[in-house]
This record gives sequence, structure tokens and C-alpha cells, in this order.
Amino acid sequence: MTPERGRPLLRSYPSAMEPDRVRTHPNGAAAGIVLHLAPHPDDELIGAPATLMALRDAGWTVVNVPCSLGRPKARARREAELHEACGLAGFELRVPERPVSISPDCDPEVAQAELTELAAGAIADVKPRIVVSPGPGDRHHGHHMVYLATRDAIRDLAPEPPRWWMWALWGSLPQPTLGTVFDDSRLTEILVALAAHRGEVGRNDYRKLVRARAEVNALLAPELLFGFGAAGVQGARYAELLTEAALVDRRWLLGRSRWLDPREPLCDPGDGQALFE
Ligand SMILES: [Zn+2]
Repeated sequence: MTPERGRPLLRSYPSAMEPDRVRTHPNGAAAGIVLHLAPHPDDELIGAPATLMALRDAGWTVVNVPCSLGRPKARARREAELHEACGLAGFELRVPERPVSISPDCDPEVAQAELTELAAGAIADVKPRIVVSPGPGDRHHGHHMVYLATRDAIRDLAPEPPRWWMWALWGSLPQPTLGTVFDDSRLTEILVALAAHRGEVGRNDYRKLVRARAEVNALLAPELLFGFGAAGVQGARYAELLTEAALVDRRWLLGRSRWLDPREPLCDPGDGQALFE
């Protein structure tokens, strides 16, 4: 579960950050670190980018780690695009020295073990208060593998495991608990950064997906979070949905249903119901 002795797990990209995008909390201190474990380059701007950017604006450092870089012949291009995208998004980028192959023809047992090692190593390295990753309900095999790896990596941490926020792209989260509302300027910011992934956007224009899903979620989120019949948020054009899990006494608890307040993003899960049991 630990990286090879003396060999760095992650390669930093400090130059990816544009100086004017590094923000601090109003009190001058950094609020904390949120680690995004992305199955692929581009997921950092498709999975839950409005949530990550809201935390960034509240003074959090967003560190994105791509678990894979796609097929070997495309890796250099995808890493270069990712570097540009993270710079535009104001996210730090750390690339694994040994990205994991999560293609359909990989050995699933070997890949799962490597992913769990990578997730555990990244958490140990970055020391986040929040980890964001795919969650249950995502039907992409690589996304599902990163979900399982993140779950196992957090579960084996002690004594203060980070809070876990999950998104789903190729499917629906079974138990969404956390919603992030955003506006046109945030959507534009996301789409401009996502466009740096020229190869992926050229293959399939995920910008349309991000916009359409956010519009749909603005209507679904109030009722999925607070019960059918709940009123929508006035003026909310776009939203993201996540599931929050907290590991308490080695039990996974579901977070409270709520809208994200980026200034107070963490709250007690209270009597949250059990997850994964
Ligand atoms: Zn992906």
C-alpha cells in the first residue's frame, strides 16, 4: 500500500498555477486541501468542477491527480492538455510517476491493486481534508475502479480519514446528499478550461454534456436532496450533485442533505444513515 522506497509517487506541476488564480481565505490562511482523484484527464472538469472551483474561491487548494493518462500513444498529448486545463481551472496538478492502465483490456485485479496503492499514496502525500472521486452508480469501468480504490484507501486510514465526496457521470448516484448551485459565469469558466482537452472534446463534445447535466440537475437536485415536493432554488440555472460519506468509528455514514456552503463545506454527518453495509 506504500510507494516504493525513495521513489516519488506524484510529480508536481507547480507552474500550472497562474499566480492570480491562487487564492487565500479571507482571513489570509489557506482553508485546506481538497484532493480530486480523476480516472482520466478531463474528469476534473466534468465530474464536479463547479464544486471544486467554489472551494478554490473559498481559499481551498484543489489538487488534481489523474489516475490514468489514457492509452500509451496518447499520454504525452493528454498530459499536456491536462496541464493547460488545470492552469486555467486554478487547480494544482500532480501526475503519478506510474499512471495505472484502466482500459477494458487491463488485468482488473492488478489495476485495482495499483489504483488503491495510488489513491492511498496520494492521500498520504497531499493530506487532504476532502477527497473527491467517482462514486457508486458510474457505469464506466475505469470510474468504478477509482471509486473502489478511493473507498478502500480512505477506509484503511486512521485516525482522521478525510471526508469523501462522490460524483457520477455515466449513471446516477443512488444517494445524492450534497448540491452545488452555480451560474453562467462559473459554467463559462468550466467550459473554457474543459476546452483545453482538445482531443477528448474533439472526439465527443463533453462541454454540451456538462451544460445539459447542470441544467437538469438544477431541477432534480432540490427534490432528490430534500424530498419530492421540495421547492426549487429561485434563479438557480445550474447544479451539481454529489454523495457525501464520512468514516466514523470505521462505519461509513451518509452526509446530511444540504446545499454546499463553500465557506463552511464540512459539517457533522449527525445521525447519518450507514452506507456500504
Ligand atoms: Zn473518465
